[in-house]
Amino acid sequence: MLTVAEAHGVVLRHAKRLPAEVVPVAPPVLGRVLAEDVRADLDSPPFTKSLMDGYAVRAADVAGGGVELRVVEEVPAGKPPARRVGPGEAVRLFTGAPVPDGADAVVMQEKTERTAADRVRVSDPGARPGQNILPRGREMTAGDVVLPAGTVLTPAAFGLLAGVGRTAVSAFPAPRVAILATGTELVEAGETPGPGQIRNSNGPMLAAQAARAGAVPSPLGAARDDGDRLAAGVREGLSGADVLLVAGGVSVGAYDLVPRVLAGLGVETHFHQVRMKPGKPLLFGTRAGVLVFGLPGNPVSSFLGFELFVRPALRVLAGHADPGPRTTTLPLAGPFAAKNDRPTYHPAKLDAGPSGWRVRGLPWFGSPDLRGILAADAFLVLPPGEVSYEAGAPAEVVLL
Ligand code: AMP
Ligand code: MG
Repeated sequence: MLTVAEAHGVVLRHAKRLPAEVVPVAPPVLGRVLAEDVRADLDSPPFTKSLMDGYAVRAADVAGGGVELRVVEEVPAGKPPARRVGPGEAVRLFTGAPVPDGADAVVMQEKTERTAADRVRVSDPGARPGQNILPRGREMTAGDVVLPAGTVLTPAAFGLLAGVGRTAVSAFPAPRVAILATGTELVEAGETPGPGQIRNSNGPMLAAQAARAGAVPSPLGAARDDGDRLAAGVREGLSGADVLLVAGGVSVGAYDLVPRVLAGLGVETHFHQVRMKPGKPLLFGTRAGVLVFGLPGNPVSSFLGFELFVRPALRVLAGHADPGPRTTTLPLAGPFAAKNDRPTYHPAKLDAGPSGWRVRGLPWFGSPDLRGILAADAFLVLPPGEVSYEAGAPAEVVLL
């Protein structure tokens, strides 16, 4: 049986970036990954500009402090100056306005006093060339690679793309994820379960996890534990999706038909079972470039299998350099004890303690306990055997 790390490695070996596409720069592509180097088309700022409301001057004119200058022009933001600043002259300027030729410093308004309609007294004895001025090209020069390929399209990236005049870019697509729940006992959320039936929680949960991971979910409802019905659902999922998730029916019971059905449809299984708890019967296979995950039906098993293996695969498909999941070590907020036969992932919550972030194990009774992960933003990774930790002990954590 593979360890979690080995299984993660197998999944990543089969996950390949999807071909890039051209997309408009608009909120639906937030979080996508850029597939091209984006360069500046212009210098930014495109002209030397004032960082303050004040006066453009020649620093040498005002260095002694307490001098009076002649105000020759007024330049608001958005207007090119008409005149040079000569000796003994100043130009009234506002933040964002172009600095006129001849001037090499801006004196802030607070260090000046207007003595007449065309005269200003300047008291800035320490004035130095360049002060309160943002030189042309200070942020970027035309031709600079401002957003290298691989950059995540964050709000800051949107702002920079607009700044360099880009309304469309080449980006990796959002992977398409088909989600098939399985189980004769399942009815959909809008239905009332009859005797022996339960509602399909995994379908909506996995669709939400896929969406949160930046993928486009396509829920296929629930299939009965019947070879033909399952095969029909799997066939639908294999066509037109990059990733197929089949939840439930992947274990060793007589009604766990998923491994056989997948094999019958040409899915090559790369592993079946991972040394972890919950979620041991996890299956991973591929068929013609489609990644197929069989996730155990207990909701927390499905949830965890997604976070440990599916999400990293989706991130690779979507062009991210770091597949995750992110792990770290944090001190425990309280004592924690457990006994398990396999490495165990226990739902946990981070909080900002008086001396930094720490982690607390949540009350949870095991793989069917979805309520137990409602508040979780992490899982504690516990070694097999009996463990008993004091408050403050370092704990390995997988972040969600
Ligand atoms: P299985 O992996 O099919 O053996 O299912 C394990 C347990 O998870 C059983 O108790 C199932 O009834 C339950 N289960 C399976 N699929 C779902 C689902 N989509 N939503 C909620 N519970 C499920
Ligand atoms: Mg089942």
